[in-house]
Amino acid sequence: MLPRSREAFAEAQRYMPGGVSSAARAFGPVGGDPPILAVGEGARVRDIDGNDYVDLVMSWGPLIRGHAVKDVVRAIAETAAKGTSFGATTEHETRLARVVVDRVPSVELVRFTNSGTEATMAAIRVARGVTGREKIVKFAGCWHGHADPFLIAAGSSALSLGRPDSPGVPAEVAKLTLVAPYNDAAAVEALLKAHEVAAVIVEPVAGNMGCVPPAPGFLEGLRDTCSRFGACLILDEVITGFRVARGGAQELYRVMPDLTTMGKTIGGGLPVGAFGGKRKFMEHVAPLGMRVSQGGTLSGNPLAMAAGLATIGPLDEKAYEALEEKGRYLAEGLKHASLTVQRVGSMMTVFFTDRPVRNLADAEKCDTKRFARWHRAMLRRGVYLPPSQFEAFFVSLAHERADLDKVIAAHRESLAEIG
Ligand SMILES: *Cc1c(COP(=O)(O)O)cnc(C)c1O
Repeated sequence: MLPRSREAFAEAQRYMPGGVSSAARAFGPVGGDPPILAVGEGARVRDIDGNDYVDLVMSWGPLIRGHAVKDVVRAIAETAAKGTSFGATTEHETRLARVVVDRVPSVELVRFTNSGTEATMAAIRVARGVTGREKIVKFAGCWHGHADPFLIAAGSSALSLGRPDSPGVPAEVAKLTLVAPYNDAAAVEALLKAHEVAAVIVEPVAGNMGCVPPAPGFLEGLRDTCSRFGACLILDEVITGFRVARGGAQELYRVMPDLTTMGKTIGGGLPVGAFGGKRKFMEHVAPLGMRVSQGGTLSGNPLAMAAGLATIGPLDEKAYEALEEKGRYLAEGLKHASLTVQRVGSMMTVFFTDRPVRNLADAEKCDTKRFARWHRAMLRRGVYLPPSQFEAFFVSLAHERADLDKVIAAHRESLAEIG
């Protein structure tokens, strides 16, 4: 079907494990070969065979304004022309840091990293350093990047591979990670009663078992429990930050974490991450206070900072209203009696179950074989979706009514085809 893509992917597999640079990109869960993408423009991507797709992956979240947005590309090019990296403070960082601190309610100081993984790694180190405790609590189905402490009941790629816990994670490390069911604040309270816990880390809207919104009272319950037991509450806003609201999920749900991790959207498609929070914690990040170790040769890279600023800088309340409206329109169009469509703003998932999905156990009841057939049918009709049931997909400001209508029409035909 895609002769050049097939050949190119075979070539990729000769030199790279699975032909990918990140496990979630492999088409294992849905079957077939991935199209090899060459061009992105607005809401569309084109593969090397010349096929055009409406993109709902959007680089797994970062491209909130779409592909190759002119002023973002210009900002990157103009910055690059003056030097790609200095390993020293530049004004690009300060500008982006000011936007983060201004918009994200709980963040008073912020440190930039190269990825979301680096941000979550550092955030728990800070929490452990400041509290003097070692255990952390995470939720089944939440993904916080690929650092050892988080590869326990992690979502997305690990889930789809049917191997939630990775070989290579020392048992001694895994032992320090306690796991609770998502949307179950009472389970967390029980854990915090029984253990000395440094931090509870949570995706305020889960995206990595598919889109699972927080139940009413869940985040507030975590905030209250963490405060009572002296644990640090970390909101992992790598997806939700600058995505579900201008100030992220903490603004939308009015929950003040101690630390926040960010990534994806704040780099506008370049490699980036960040962690930040209250002074009480952040003033112990090296070189300050207790000097909790953290560093990175390319951290705060000028190109990433410029791309991030150009991407999130212009996002005003109007932009979030537009994202909500586009998200609502698409989700309405995707509704079907045999499916559950879950959405927060412009992030959503079509679950192949007729029941609500509140946690990992619910998500695992989905008909993943039917999802795989749907995914292939959608791809043939020019809709590019994440190749797993356990992922969220994203609408950007570049998605026009015509793009969304194309997705909805493809969906109706695909459901008719797969039965
Ligand atoms: C993507 C993601 C990460 C990891 O970010 P990377 O930049 O891929 O390392 C962490 N947490 C959440 C919630 C994510 O979705």
